[in-house]
Amino acid sequence: MTDIQTSKHSETQTLENYWMPFTANRQFKASPRMLAEAEGMYYKDTSGRPVLDGTAGLWCCNAGHGRKEISEAVSHQIHQMDYAPSFQMGHPLAFELAERLASISPEGLNKVFFTNSGSESVDSALKIAINYHRANGESTRTRFIGRELGYHGVGFGGISVGGIGGNRKTFSQQLLPGVDHLPHTLDMQDNAFSRGMPKTGAEKAEVLEQLVALHGAENIAAVIVEPMSGSAGVILPPEGYLQRLREITKKHGILLIFDEVITGFGRVGDAFASQRWGVTPDMITAAKALNNGAIPMGAVLIDDNIYDACMQGPAGIELFHGYTYSGHPVAAAAAIASLNIYENEKLFERTKELESYFEDAIHSLKGLPNIIDIRNIGLVGGIQFSPSAQGVGKRGFAIFEECFAKGTLVRATADIIAISPPLIVDKQEIDQIVNTLSDAIRAVD
Ligand code: PLP
Repeated sequence: MTDIQTSKHSETQTLENYWMPFTANRQFKASPRMLAEAEGMYYKDTSGRPVLDGTAGLWCCNAGHGRKEISEAVSHQIHQMDYAPSFQMGHPLAFELAERLASISPEGLNKVFFTNSGSESVDSALKIAINYHRANGESTRTRFIGRELGYHGVGFGGISVGGIGGNRKTFSQQLLPGVDHLPHTLDMQDNAFSRGMPKTGAEKAEVLEQLVALHGAENIAAVIVEPMSGSAGVILPPEGYLQRLREITKKHGILLIFDEVITGFGRVGDAFASQRWGVTPDMITAAKALNNGAIPMGAVLIDDNIYDACMQGPAGIELFHGYTYSGHPVAAAAAIASLNIYENEKLFERTKELESYFEDAIHSLKGLPNIIDIRNIGLVGGIQFSPSAQGVGKRGFAIFEECFAKGTLVRATADIIAISPPLIVDKQEIDQIVNTLSDAIRAVD
């Protein structure tokens, strides 16, 4: 790896100016954890110490780090054309990428709207849902239904349909009106330590019928859920649950949106969780591994029927929505190169091949102090701990810090540790992640 001068953290560098997102800034700045380089399965911190990546960055780098195919595509594109306006102008790569995405998306989802992040993908999907119903002559369909513990990014739309209290409370007076939430599907009493999908809990989808009875289907635009909740701590759908949501939404003309910002691009074994679980929504929101995290980019995959309905009105702009950087040529080049890697190296299939090894490895932690649940699917695992006497989240964070000190990056949300390595991970690296975790769990009170 080359030494990149600007990525080095010197003792004299000030940390004062950067307000870090979703970070305990004062704590971090008192004891920083700085990453400077990345290649394959490893980061290096600013002192050159290798850190095994147990999280694919932030669920982004599914093909591992430092992929030459991606950096060369980016470099080539930025030389050839750095930027092209996205409104009333086009460039070939955005169309090529849309075609590539349509070719791996579930049947019928052949239209692609580009964004720059998962949050923007969610807000775009919500707006497209309303636009669609208006185009269809059903302009009273404006309500949304999310789910408790759902994470849909940080836009006002996303936090409104999202169900994580901490992300909503400060902004509670500004949330979108007309939003309800389904109950979450985490049930540790019945389903703790299940492997893969929990067997019970599908009936939680029936609450949707109650909400339809309460508000009237004619007022509901869409239901949005993560097929598997990532950020809330790897919460899996019970067997039959997603199918039931699909049946009820279809019956009432309500759109179903799967937020696959985390589950997209092989994390659970197919291109999308929708395919793994055989349930096709009307829209899928994506980002992160779309271009291996190399350049900010997101997308909404949209059913042909939605697009066609929106094309019926008078000639002119059909959707008053879009971003300066929608379909950015450099981000699109990175995405095409990433899709090539996923395909050439059969990384989605690799997830399935490694799934049972990964499952056995993380379930081997059962019995260690304070573990109250272990959940897994594909190459994702969640290990839940009872909160310590110091308060909720303290134990999870202490384990994360201990793992980092021992050379492995994991992710803590409250008292849950999530593991989601790049899909290029091998068995020995899976063992290394789990062994480090095991040591860290024993070391932390
Ligand atoms: N939706 C889901 C399911 C996510 O997991 C995330 C981010 O983790 C988002 C949306 C928001 O994505 P971003 O941080 O790129 O805005």
